[in-house]
Formats: sequence, C-alpha cells, structure tokens
Amino acid sequence: MTVGIDVDAVLSDLRELRERFGGPDGARRLAWSPAWLAARDWLRAKLDQLPVEVEQDVAGNIWATLPGAGGPDGFVIVGSHIDAVPHGGWLDGVLGLMSALGVLRALAAADEAPPVEVRFVDWADEEGARFGRSLLGSSAAAGTLDPDDVRDLLDSEGTRLQDALAACGVDLDAAHGATERLKGALAYLELHIEQGPVLLDTGRLASAVAGTVGDERYLVTFTGQAAHAGSTPMRLRRDSLAAAATAALEIREVGIRHDGVCTVGAMKADPGVITAVAGSTEMMLDLRHLDADVLAAMLRDCLSACDDAAKAFDCAVQSRRVFGATPTPFHPELVSLARRSVADAGGGDGPPIPSGPLHDATEVGRLVPTVMIFAQSDPPLSHVAIEDSPEEALRIAIDAYGRTVGGALELVASGQLTGAAR
Ligand SMILES: [Zn+2]
Repeated sequence: MTVGIDVDAVLSDLRELRERFGGPDGARRLAWSPAWLAARDWLRAKLDQLPVEVEQDVAGNIWATLPGAGGPDGFVIVGSHIDAVPHGGWLDGVLGLMSALGVLRALAAADEAPPVEVRFVDWADEEGARFGRSLLGSSAAAGTLDPDDVRDLLDSEGTRLQDALAACGVDLDAAHGATERLKGALAYLELHIEQGPVLLDTGRLASAVAGTVGDERYLVTFTGQAAHAGSTPMRLRRDSLAAAATAALEIREVGIRHDGVCTVGAMKADPGVITAVAGSTEMMLDLRHLDADVLAAMLRDCLSACDDAAKAFDCAVQSRRVFGATPTPFHPELVSLARRSVADAGGGDGPPIPSGPLHDATEVGRLVPTVMIFAQSDPPLSHVAIEDSPEEALRIAIDAYGRTVGGALELVASGQLTGAAR
C-alpha cells in the first residue's frame, strides 16, 4: 500500500512552526521550557483535528494512536522530536515529526484503515541541549535511562534536571514505565535531515540510513618532563605535547584506513606556557564506526599509535574510557525498503549511509525493527540557524517516507515483520 503524504501540507506546517517558534535567530523550542510546551500545544491542536487518541507517557513523550483494521497484533510507530537546540534550525526533528503527522493525515483520509494501529510519537528532549543528556524520552522507552545518572544534572541557571521535568509533570523515577510503550511495536520509521555533508558531496537528495555508528571516547594522557624551553636541548627533552601531536596525526590515518571517523578534538598541555616543554598533555579522542568489529580494530590501532608515539618521545601514556555506545545497525529488510522508496520517489538509487549523530531511532532500534531516511542538508550544517535543505530534497524525502511507511504496513500485514523477532 502507498501512504501518499500531502507534501505541501507538511512544508506549510514546517514554515508555520518556523514563524511561530523560530525566526532569524533560529528555533525556540528548548526541551522542558515554556516555548517547548507552547510548541507541543500547537502540535496537539493539529493532532486534535484527526481521529486519534492523544496521550503523554510517563517519560513525557506524546503519543497519538490511529486505530487499525484489526490485523495482526501490534503497531507501527512514526515520529521524531519537536525540541531543538537554542538557535537551532527549522528542520532538525520537525521534518520527521511533521511528516509523521502527514502519515496520520493520509491514513485517516484513506477509505480503509491501516492493517495495524499506527502510533505517532514526539519524543521528549531528544537534543539534551539543556542538561547534556540526549535521547531522554526515547532512552526511557528503550529501558536504557538510569534516573540516578541524570537527576542532578544542572542547566546553565543551576536548575536540576529532575526539577525541570517535575515542572512539566514528569516524575523522573517513574519514567522507566515508558518501556510499556514499545511492547508490541512492529516497526519504527523516522525521517530526518542528514545534518552532514555526505549526500551533498555525492549529489544525492535523500538516502536510506544503514544505522547509527558506535562511539568510543577516551582521555589519553601523555606524561614526560616539564622543562625550561631555553635550557633543555632538543635531544634531552621528554616532550608530552610532541608525543600527543604525533599520535594525533597517526590517529587521522587510522580513521582513513578503516573508513571510519577518528577525531582528536582537544588537547590540554601542562604547564601550558610558552617558555616550557609540556610535562603532561591530555588528549581527547572520539572514534565512530557502524561495524562493531571495525570500531574495536580502530580503537586498538589508535591506542597503539599512542603507545608508539609515547615511546618515541620517552614519555609514559595512560588512557581512560569516558563514553561508549555500541553501533545500532537498522533492520536489513526495512533498510532495503527505504532504499527502494527513495528511488521510487525520484531520489535515485544509492547505498544506505551510516548516521554519525545519535537519534531517537538509535534507542528504539535496539528493540524494534527500525529504519531512518535522510534528506540532504545544504549547507551541510545543523544545530545552527542557517540549517537548510533544498525544497526538492524535502519533497523527495517526505514522499519516500510515506512509501516506506506503506511498505512496512504491507510487511506487517503479511506477517513478514514481527517486531520482537529481531
Ligand atoms: Zn534531531
């Protein structure tokens, strides 16, 4: 079946959102803020025009359920997020959300009900822009949120996360109850802008997404000997900054060799003055790849590059893992379906691309067959007010999304997609 989304209506919703909750300085929809609540009221008013049941779950996610024709047990989920980073763009999150609303509209107007229930979701606080914890609502639903990890996080004004949630009617300690919402989910489908340069670089307007890359973050400390910059000959130095810099260049090569991304985003040298050899240097390392085995190999290569560089400069080296996230490859059959849908919508055929950024689909994809579609970003930037996509890319991506939802409903109706089987 086809779900023919009214693309003009989606674009007009997006422009209305930009007008009411954005402007030249960017989006004003920071999670747990009055502006976010107002944007969600705006969304609810749109949902109220449809034959759906709207409710908020215990983690603050908004759900709208469209009844199905009574086919197999279970339901299909469409959605994304309405929250935004301060001064963010007009498409991040809301492109997918308004397209999911377009799915509900198309299904509600059709002669026949969909084979199973279709549930729309607006995940709460995808961005984590206020407290630094991304994917809050979706991780509560996926069962990966530990309240003790987040309750004392503070925003820039000193408000605790737990209190900000309570002010919006969400009890952090009850949020795990949102796991109930994914029980019986047969598929999760999300449309989003790419937020990066790959599609623009390859001249593609939209693409299926292969999955979300895994991420390893390390703090690496090189220790040599602080010494006077004037009195210490080059051959007698134990220069920790030279060791770290040498390692950083080799780490770049590791990323290229494994077709992944390796980033040394920061270094801090001590004592950090112009007249001293750096006695110790701390380096921040971030590695990402879609394949867990390749990610592990990249990590081994990077750490051994650090060992080699330390030896070459007569330094010691220590590393500490500060964050890790396993890759989430999306459901192979849904990825093929999304790829075909993009081609059928006029977006051409091309290989699915991995997502570097995390998405709510990353959390949901751990439990439920999931796929995403990306629309080209041009300029290839996001989380900034100038974020944009060509209208043609938006049109193709929205159309492809409707086709993907239709295809997923067919798979579900014929028993080929059974959710928990994954
Ligand atoms: Zn987003």
